[in-house]
Amino acid sequence: MIPETVAQVEPREQVILSAEQNTEEQYWRLQLAQSLRSTQELLRELQFSEQQVQQLSANDQGFSTLVPKAYVARMQPSNPRDPLLLQVLPQTAEAVSSSDFVADPLAEAEFNPTPGVVHKYHGRALLIAAGHCAINCRYCFRRHYPYHEQQRSRSQWQASLACLAVDANIEEIILSGGDPLALTNNMLFALIDEIEALPNVQRLRIHTRLPVVLPARITTTLCQRLQTSRLQIVMVLHCNHPQEIDAQVVQACLRMQQAGISLLNQSVLLQGINADTDSLCALSKKLFSAAVLPYYLHLPDQVAGTQHFFVSQQQGQALLRSMQSQLPGYLVPRLVKEEPGQPHKTLIPVV
Ligand code: SF4
Repeated sequence: MIPETVAQVEPREQVILSAEQNTEEQYWRLQLAQSLRSTQELLRELQFSEQQVQQLSANDQGFSTLVPKAYVARMQPSNPRDPLLLQVLPQTAEAVSSSDFVADPLAEAEFNPTPGVVHKYHGRALLIAAGHCAINCRYCFRRHYPYHEQQRSRSQWQASLACLAVDANIEEIILSGGDPLALTNNMLFALIDEIEALPNVQRLRIHTRLPVVLPARITTTLCQRLQTSRLQIVMVLHCNHPQEIDAQVVQACLRMQQAGISLLNQSVLLQGINADTDSLCALSKKLFSAAVLPYYLHLPDQVAGTQHFFVSQQQGQALLRSMQSQLPGYLVPRLVKEEPGQPHKTLIPVV
């Protein structure tokens, strides 16, 4: 449960921060606490009429609305087809069921040796660091994931990491979630301390959408902690549309770059949002201008309730060919999909 006010968020942390850092930390946590948590609230914020609010409000199918105002500010008011709004607005189409779209399309439950750890790939282990995000994306492949069964307290992380410490093959830890940057600094830094103590681990990868949806999260304190880590830090952002990148997002990314953090992006191909050449090319260019390399373009996972976002492999391949004709190679992401039981993402040939 996300705290409603800063005063409720671990007051101990406020004591050890300088006044300037404290202000930065308070600011992003207050922004997170003030996120919109209902469809009606979201639509009213975007100046839809009361009649439209009623027409556009659909059942959230148990996956609640959650959107930071910093993200809403980049949406076009009163536009029901806005590509950012469509990523977070519950749709009646989510109620359509199909045997091809299931709760756990990647069968993650089978690759979970200890609570909080999803150990999937050779040399790398993925740790569920947080049970919540700063935004609830309707297409999320973990929208049905049983976070409540995963363990995320400090002592429970130690148990999860102890399981990785005995495996000398593990060179890289991937923090996922939820969103690891939705943790407070106290929690996140304690986790990084634990990971740094594992001698075999050389790299820390953080999968996050926070720099995009709540760029104020990229604070001085966070950058300093990551900059001074003995680990190589890779931040894998999740940005799907060029409209998501405003001046604050660019500034946050450049701060991380200056702190020596490698920045990659993965996008999900989404019907009606970014499944067109113009959007994808503009996204690659804007990412690169923010020092972020467009890395992966995912075909959407076949998650129950997300059929309306689906993009076929053939359409994805055609889009990549079109991007190749318009962009230098380093701005063309790799087209990939995840398949249950496979030890790595499946690279989809584009020729
Ligand atoms: S930020 Fe990522 S994990 Fe969280 S809801 Fe969105 S897609 Fe899912």
